[in-house]
Amino acid sequence: RDFKDVNLNEGIASTVNIIRGRARTKGVELTTDLTPLPTVACYPGELNQVLLNLLSNAIDATDPGGRVTVRTHAVENGVEIQVADTGKGIDPVIRHKIFDPFFTTKPVGEGTGLGLSVSYGIVRSHGGTIDVESEPGQGATFIVRLPLKAAEV
Ligand code: ADP
Ligand code: MG
Repeated sequence: RDFKDVNLNEGIASTVNIIRGRARTKGVELTTDLTPLPTVACYPGELNQVLLNLLSNAIDATDPGGRVTVRTHAVENGVEIQVADTGKGIDPVIRHKIFDPFFTTKPVGEGTGLGLSVSYGIVRSHGGTIDVESEPGQGATFIVRLPLKAAEV
């Protein structure tokens, strides 16, 4: 693995800008709350893809007038990235399936069901974890935790 030491806040800010137009078109407010981070050994392009997947899902799940927020902060020996939305939330009945390949609740042609499974694989390959908390009807928060240095594989 040929990881680079990167400050993730820079890539996060530009990834958010890539999808800002889609949020604006839908009437969803997209905000960031990025706090200073230590560098993380990673493939920045892969982690940007994870964030893009999470943001895309969050905007899909959120009605006009709602909000999507990206937060970062340093944690012990790592960093945490949260993508929170005020959307429809995740039904506990499907909660255990959302990271499965090809699982989607979107209409045919709109969802591949691959975003979260690919994201899960990328985060795991960086030695990290991805979790979700959701209150159905009130929104969902995806939490990505990454170690500063992944164990050599
Ligand atoms: P897709 O977006 O193509 O459906 P994903 O793997 O990205 O595939 O997501 C799988 C499913 O997880 C979605 O179809 C949706 O049911 C659920 N999901 C993902 N993110 C959210 C979210 N922020 N709020 C509510 N449901 C979500
Ligand atoms: Mg998706």
